[in-house]
Amino acid sequence: MKRLEQLYEGKAKIIYATENPDLVIQYFKDDATAFDGVKKGTIVDKGVINNQVSTKIFQYLEENGVKTHFVEQLSDREMLVKKLDIIMVEVVLRNVAAGSICKRLGIEEGKQLEPPTLEFFYKSDELHDPMINDSHIKTFNWATEKEVEILRAQGKKVNELMVAFFKQRGIRLVDFKLEFGRHKGEVLLGDEISPDGCRLWDMATGEKMDKDRFRFSLGNVEEKYQEVYNLVCGQGK
Ligand code: ADP
Ligand code: UDP
Repeated sequence: MKRLEQLYEGKAKIIYATENPDLVIQYFKDDATAFDGVKKGTIVDKGVINNQVSTKIFQYLEENGVKTHFVEQLSDREMLVKKLDIIMVEVVLRNVAAGSICKRLGIEEGKQLEPPTLEFFYKSDELHDPMINDSHIKTFNWATEKEVEILRAQGKKVNELMVAFFKQRGIRLVDFKLEFGRHKGEVLLGDEISPDGCRLWDMATGEKMDKDRFRFSLGNVEEKYQEVYNLVCGQGK
C-alpha cells in the first residue's frame, strides 16, 4: 500500500492518504512533546518502538473481541489503519493514581484505585484537554449517548485486557489514554497504544518505563522504551 499525500501532521505521528479512501497510514515519528507542547524533544527510535508495541497490542485486543482501526504493520514506522472520523473525547483509564488525578483530587501517587476510574477529556490542545462529563458530550454533540456507552464499555474491557497483558510481562499498568473514531457506522479504537500514552511501572522495582521519564527528565528514556519493547514484543511473547 503506497503512501500518498499527507493529510495531517500531529505531535507524534503523520497521517497519509492511500489509494483506498477508507484506509490511511500512520507514520510514527521520534518527536516527543509534553505539557501541551511546551517541552519538545526527540526520543531516538521511539517511532519504531511505538509502532511495534501498538501493533502487538492492537492484535491482542482484536483477538479478544475489541474492534480497532488496525489493518497491518507496513514498515518500521508505518501502520495501515482504517480511516476514522475521530471522536474528540479522550478516554482515560486509571488503575493507580498518578499524574493529573493526584493534583486534581489530592491523591497520593501510587494509590491503587479500586474500582479503576474512567474519565473523559475534551481533545483540544488550545484548551489543554479539559476534563468533561457525559452531559458536556451530549450538549456539545461530541458523541451520541450510544457512542458514550460504547466508549465506557470498551474502555473498561480494554483496561481489563491490558492489565493482564502487561502483568504477564512484569509491568504494572498505571493508566492510559484511548481515542476512538467512527468508520462505516462502527466505533473503532484508534490512534496508538504505547509508552507515550500509558503509564507503565516496572513491577519489580517500581521504576517508570514511559513518557514520564521524558516529561520529568528522569534519564534513560530510550533504554526504558526499549525495555518495554523487549517485554511486549520479545521472543516467545
Ligand atoms: P496529536 O494530533 O495529538 O498531535 P498525533 O501526533 O498522534 O497526535 O497525531 C495523530 C492524529 O491522528 C491524532 O490527532 C489522532 O486523533 C488521529 N488519528 C488516529 N487514528 C486515526 C485514524 N485511524 N484515522 C484518522 N485519524 C486518526
Ligand atoms: N495522556 C495522553 N495524552 C493526553 C493526556 C493524557 O496520552 O493528551 C495519557 C498520559 O500519558 C497518562 C494518562 O493519559 O498515561 C493520564 O494522563 P493524566 O490525566 O494524568 O495527564 P498528565 O499527567 O499526562 O498531564
